[in-house]
Amino acid sequence: MRPSFLLLPLLLAGSAALAAPTIGVSLQYRDTSVKPGDEFFDYANGGWYSAADIPADRSSIGVGYEVSQRAEKRNAELVRDAAAANAAAGTPQRMIADYYNAYMDTAGIEARGLAPLRPQLAEIGAIATQGDLARAMGKRLRADVDPLNNTNFFTENLFGLWVSQSLDDPSRTVPYLLQGGLGMPDREYYLGQDAHMQKVRAAYRTYVADMLRLAGMSDADARADRVIALENKIAAAHLDRTASEDVHKANNPWRTADLPRLAPGLDWQAYLGAAGLQSQPMIVAWQPGAIRALSGLVASEPLESWKDWLAFHTLNRNASYLPAAYDDLRFGFYGKALSGTTKQRDRWKRALSLVNADLGDAVGKIYAARYFPASSKAEVQGMVKNILVAFNRRIDGLSWMAPSTKREAKEKVRTLRVGVGYPETWRDYAGLVVRADDPVGNAERAREWEYRHQLSKLGRPVDRGEWWMTPQTVNAVNLPLQNALNFPAAILEAPYFDPKADAAANYGSIGAIIGHEISHSFDNTGAEFDASGKLKNWWTAADQAHFKEATKRLVEQYNSYEPVAGMHLNGEQILGENIADVAGLAAAYDAYHASLKGKPAPVIDGLTGDQRFFLAFAQSWRQKLREAALRQQIVTDGHAPAHQRALTVRNLDPWYAAYKVQPGDKLYLAPKDRVRIW
Ligand SMILES: [Zn+2]
Repeated sequence: MRPSFLLLPLLLAGSAALAAPTIGVSLQYRDTSVKPGDEFFDYANGGWYSAADIPADRSSIGVGYEVSQRAEKRNAELVRDAAAANAAAGTPQRMIADYYNAYMDTAGIEARGLAPLRPQLAEIGAIATQGDLARAMGKRLRADVDPLNNTNFFTENLFGLWVSQSLDDPSRTVPYLLQGGLGMPDREYYLGQDAHMQKVRAAYRTYVADMLRLAGMSDADARADRVIALENKIAAAHLDRTASEDVHKANNPWRTADLPRLAPGLDWQAYLGAAGLQSQPMIVAWQPGAIRALSGLVASEPLESWKDWLAFHTLNRNASYLPAAYDDLRFGFYGKALSGTTKQRDRWKRALSLVNADLGDAVGKIYAARYFPASSKAEVQGMVKNILVAFNRRIDGLSWMAPSTKREAKEKVRTLRVGVGYPETWRDYAGLVVRADDPVGNAERAREWEYRHQLSKLGRPVDRGEWWMTPQTVNAVNLPLQNALNFPAAILEAPYFDPKADAAANYGSIGAIIGHEISHSFDNTGAEFDASGKLKNWWTAADQAHFKEATKRLVEQYNSYEPVAGMHLNGEQILGENIADVAGLAAAYDAYHASLKGKPAPVIDGLTGDQRFFLAFAQSWRQKLREAALRQQIVTDGHAPAHQRALTVRNLDPWYAAYKVQPGDKLYLAPKDRVRIW
């Protein structure tokens, strides 16, 4: 993901006992037999790493996991209280309780069997024309992608919708259409030739057939072959992840009246009508080539293949809400084969995740009021202010940058809108029907409610205060079009942020996160937007050339990492995140020193302030990950793995001084090879 901070799927709740929160840095987590200059991640985390066990129901363990467990425990309390309150119908508390209880009622779920999906499956079975097919697909369009904020490019529907302001005109809200249609996470899973991809592919083919068979469909194997053949063609038409991140390739406003000509095949009139988009004068085609190709496939591939594909994805999308046979089957592929996780998470934890996804603001409003003290908000706001000041000073100090470029950059910093903890306004979910006996319907209606909410933004003024993460999410995000940041309450927790810890530890951990999010405004994508959120070049040609050259060296630095034998990182795909890591750490370092107000930093536990700052940073990246999940991250994610993110320190001069890193040490970079961008 580009501007968001962490890899989200790995963070969604978990099990096992909550590790005792540590204050600042943890000396016992280190492996002091490792020389910091040879392997800083292992020096900082080696003791912890060798002792850490990944829980059976998780694909990873680490700081994000510890902090998300605290949020989960609180969410559990909150839901329990909502259930006990016996609140009136239509109130947020009642919706939370009914949604949760419906999912927990496994006896009811088993008794209903596949009945909740029968109407949808019958509707698919009755598709007889291209118009019917287009209507079925249009009805299923959801606001389930987000290429610039949360950088989520995945939807198993034919297309995904994202509603935000226009790249060219910050005063207008427009619909963006993105490629979709795959069941595996990325085209690489269909096209990649290595042994792991081939193994996952075979497991997917088996899974599709088993799911169709379980649902009682005839000739399940033949149908599965058709679904796979179709998805192979869809995958071949997809734009790859790195190209999808290029906002210049994405800015393609298409008049809806021209769609039949620009992307022939799909019955666009029927599709847009069913999607509720018929009155929109234009859509923005994010991946125009793929959208054109997918539309063509709708007409060129047999109707029967598309019907099987629709039936499979209807089952796949809802399997978690169906009887255990469906749920277990789904976990067998997405949990075991794709992520290497061996055990399904406890049902109540999954119920909490789903409530959080579908009633995010209802839970978030209570969460923020109960668990986010005003003192934390004030303290974090103070840190944000200090890091913004530090970032501004760094802009002033750039010898290579022209005054005109500096002026624009500082205007972006000045007008940045920083949200700490929770949004100023909340969704009220009015009109959403939540029933205690209908988990499938609750989920489907919630997705549709979210979709209608997003559509309702079209034609209204842009709200720069809109949040794109809920307060109970352990993550943070930069919103390039809104020139804004969201720091949810749930990440402003120890050990990321600990009111009791020393400044070095807090600036090295949450400070670097804050710096990272600010820096996204100036990464390879963020730097393309001006202070108003308009896609506009505000750089002189010479400055742009210098910036490109520096980022190229960062691409090469990360290309050289090989976290799995034979599998290198793609430095281009993760460039934005790495720019944000380098620049964010540098700004946090400066802000830490400014916070000392000229006094010497205290030496604590034998560590200087700078040693603690860099140690806290590397420890904030302690994580242990299953190999299958690591492979998935390398292919599909905009972030480098945690281990390599900890090695950001190689680009900062003070790290060399703090840990006496010398030429000959494995991580040593000559001063000219250290990447300094901001
Ligand atoms: Zn980020």
